[in-house]
Order: sequence, then structure tokens, then C-alpha cells
Amino acid sequence: MISFENVSKQYQDGTTAVDSISFTVQQGEFFVLIGPSGSGKTTTLKMMNRLIPLSDGYIFIDGKKISDYNIHELRWNIGYVLQQIALFPHMTIEENIGIVPELKQWSKEKIHHRVTELLHMVSLDPDVYRTRKPSELSGGEQQRVGVIRALAADPEIILMDEPFSALDPISRDKLQEDIIHLQKEIKKTIVFVTHDMKEALKLADRICLMDNGKIIQIGTPEEIIHHPKNEFVKDFVGASSPLRSDFQLEEIIGPILNHKPSATIPVSASLEQVLGELTKQEELLVEKDGKVIGYVNRQMLIQYFSGAVDKGGIGND
Ligand code: ADP
Repeated sequence: MISFENVSKQYQDGTTAVDSISFTVQQGEFFVLIGPSGSGKTTTLKMMNRLIPLSDGYIFIDGKKISDYNIHELRWNIGYVLQQIALFPHMTIEENIGIVPELKQWSKEKIHHRVTELLHMVSLDPDVYRTRKPSELSGGEQQRVGVIRALAADPEIILMDEPFSALDPISRDKLQEDIIHLQKEIKKTIVFVTHDMKEALKLADRICLMDNGKIIQIGTPEEIIHHPKNEFVKDFVGASSPLRSDFQLEEIIGPILNHKPSATIPVSASLEQVLGELTKQEELLVEKDGKVIGYVNRQMLIQYFSGAVDKGGIGND
């Protein structure tokens, strides 16, 4: 468990990057920090493993102040994945993955076994990949190695700073799927920074939306979409331009079975209109040319946001 109590960070030039924030990340939770550029996400993340010292307040990990941990113990027990994975170019993939286990003085056999297990987890054939050098891997493969390297010594906490943002959309989707799958197996505490709302909605148990060094709202994807605390949250959710321009209500509606929602919405409604209505009603009938052609509920909209709805498919339950 990670707890922040009134934590602030002022950089030397006087910039207040983080302004008295308090929150708790539960054990095993996938916690996403999101917000516009400069809102304080990376600073918040890096204070957790003391890469950046805090100016005020307290951070606790499992009830103990992070300043009371031995710095090496703290770093080795927190996995860390960056946007640009820095694999050591002269080392093999096995050696790269084994860095922290080696520091922890694991035996050669144990490291070898662990590397095999980890490569399997992200669908890289150990026989092929363990002896390769980083330059013999694609960008997506290198990033996968970066993710499993962070898991290598079995840390309880993993910090990820925009780990997929430099990848092409297909590799990004694949890695997001990998991480969802991995998280189901390993149940670690993951703190993940992104500026991409679609990614946040897909991955998060809870989302923490930041602006200007402050926390604006913390909630589950459903709460953030359907109970945005203010206009900033509403705009941030609605403003993800790919979501907005792609939106076709007709593609996400389901057939009417026993549903009799009372309110209706035209099929031509924009994403903002549907979002607005679904914050007031659980579900809506969808009309086209004066006829009811289906219905939409909050769950379907969340599925749409998280990319779970196939193009042209119908999400029903
Ligand atoms: P985000 O990750 O949300 O983009 P950051 O945590 O990187 O935000 O930055 C928060 C604020 O702190 C920004 O205004 C940024 O310019 C500033 N900042 C970040 N690092 C430093 C630094 N080393 N010195 C001074 N200001 C910094």
C-alpha cells in the first residue's frame, strides 16, 4: 500500500510541481495518474521511489515512511518502467533482465529460470531471445523486455511512466493486452502514468486526474465517465479527440429486449451529448427517423471508451 499525505514538491527554481496531494493506492491495485502535460504526474511517480525528493508531507509504503527505507532496498523492491527503455546495448536480453536479481545475489540457475518464465509471459521465445542483444529486437519487443525486467526480482510495486507512448498503435495495443493479462496473474501494485484517457480507461482500477499539481478527481473509470466532478474532468474525458471524431452511436447500441428506458436520444447525438445524458440516466433508447432502433447504457459507453467494442460490433449483455 502506498499513501501520500499532503505531499508537495517545489523545484529549486520555485516551480510548485505537486501541491499538497493526499491519496492511497491499495495493494494489488492498478492506479493510473493522468492529466495534461506539466500537471505533476511524473514528479508524483518519481517521489515514490525517491528519484525525486519531496519538499513537504509524507509518503508511506506499507506503513513505513519512504525516508526510513534503505535507498537500495527501496529501489530494488520497486520496479520502474520508462517511456524509452534503456536496455544496456552490450548486454544480452538475459543479462539485462537479470540485473536486479543479480544485485540481490540470486543464483545463476534461479535467474535463468526466472528469465525463461518472464519471456514466456510476454510471448517472446526464450530460446530465441535470451541471447540476443537489444539492437536485435524491434521497439515493441524492447519495451516488452523493459516491462518484464521491472518484474524480474518480483517487486511488490511497479511504477510505469508512459511506458507505451513511444510505440506504434499496434504494439501499444498488444502491450496493453499483455499488461492486463500479466496483472491478472501477478496482482502487483501498479502506478501508471499516461496522458491518454483511452489507455487509462482500459487499464485502470482507479484513475487519478491531476491538473496544476493538484488532484482533481480520483475514481473508477465508471465514476470518472459518469460522475465527473467538474467541467475540467468532463472536458478531459470528452476532449480525447480520436474518441470524439470516431464516435458513432449506432455502432455501440444493443437490441431492445426487456429494456424500457424512459429517455430517448437521437442516433446522431455526439459523444458529449450521450455522455451528458448518461450521467443523468442509467440507459437511453436510441431513435433514428422517429423509430427506436436500440438502446445504450453506461456499461456500453465504458466499453466503447476502453476500446473493447469492435468496430461496427454491437455491445449487448
Ligand atoms: P507531467 O508528468 O504531468 O508532465 P511533471 O511532473 O513532469 O508533469 O512536471 C510538473 C511541473 O514541474 C511542470 O511545470 C514542469 O515544468 C516542472 N518541472 C519538472 N521537472 C522540473 C525540474 N527539474 N525543475 C524545475 N521544474 C520542473
